Amino acid sequence: MRNVGILGGGQLARMLALAGYPIGLHCTAFDTNPNACAGAVAPLTTGSFDDASQVASWAQAHDVITLEFENVPAGTVAGLAHQFPVAPGADALRVTQDRLEEKQLFGSLGIRTAPFAAVRSLEELTEAIARIGVPAVLKTRRFGYDGKGQFRLQRPEQAEEAWRALNGAPAILEGFVPFDAEYAIVAVRNRAGEVRCYPPIRTVHHDGILRFARPLLDAELQRDAQRIAQTVSEALRYVGVITIETFAVQGALLGNEIAPRVHNSAHWTIEGAETSQFENHLRAVCDLPLGDCSMRGECALVNLLGELPSVNAVLALPGVHLHDYGKEARPGRKVGHLTVTADTASQLAQRLEATVRLLPREVQDVARQLTTPS
Ligand code: AMP
Repeated sequence: MRNVGILGGGQLARMLALAGYPIGLHCTAFDTNPNACAGAVAPLTTGSFDDASQVASWAQAHDVITLEFENVPAGTVAGLAHQFPVAPGADALRVTQDRLEEKQLFGSLGIRTAPFAAVRSLEELTEAIARIGVPAVLKTRRFGYDGKGQFRLQRPEQAEEAWRALNGAPAILEGFVPFDAEYAIVAVRNRAGEVRCYPPIRTVHHDGILRFARPLLDAELQRDAQRIAQTVSEALRYVGVITIETFAVQGALLGNEIAPRVHNSAHWTIEGAETSQFENHLRAVCDLPLGDCSMRGECALVNLLGELPSVNAVLALPGVHLHDYGKEARPGRKVGHLTVTADTASQLAQRLEATVRLLPREVQDVARQLTTPS
């Protein structure tokens, strides 16, 4: 298997394509946007994900199809799977496209979650609030990302406002989790069922968007993360990199969300791990041996939103690696990331401090959560 087709042509496809070249794999991408940023490094075909015949004719030139974007219609993926190897598969996609199914999966596997209830009407929302209490978060079951499609309820009287804010879309009400920290579990599973897990990644969000992340060596958390990754990926008969977002509460990890793809929280793996998440994903879907997920040293990820800081200033910083996605600047848009590497935790704290001085003021303090114990 040498030719990989990627559904979606954003920065994840771009970094997958870049990871493929050194190991002899060629990726192409399929996206609705002719300017999708993977197009600068790999052939890009444009079309609609809903047009099964168009997707199938693009897919023909490949040995395996994968995705970088979970909102590809599961039906399109199921149709492709009759003709081509597709990883991850349509079943995994169906579950991970629906927050309710995800939560139910966690429950069936004995993984704790926030209390939750399905909500299809204002009456059901009122009942759910009575049962779960406030504070709580109302989320659309489908198509939410980066904190979009969510409403935080502080008082039961906000039910109507919350229901209106979500435009009546099928939703899930979750109890608000007073977490100590958030961790992403990023793991890779191959067709033979082997699962390798990166170290647990502490994630820090601002305005619902991931801003910073740092892998941490913690034997107890690592054991929990490995167990959760193993259980979930086996249940979904998953092939490729999978991400499970969790809340840590008094040392226990609660499952929040599953992303059936490489994930922003693990972009540091390009410089910071023995094998990057992008290469490991390609290895898994192409039936190649999985790579080592260990950290090479201390590191942290810094997301660049809106516009890049001065490239000269970034490149002058020791241990800082720039990834420019080649996207046009736009408020709130992920346009690149930095990986900060270091030999020791105190050196990382110093380097991170120097790096965040290049970012807008309002996120500089947010970054310090990564270098102060939770
Ligand atoms: P999500 O789209 O579910 O990943 O939510 C985005 C962010 O909102 C999470 O990373 C948390 O910081 C916060 N959040 C979401 N759900 C909850 C919850 N039930 N309790 C507390 N914080 C939450």
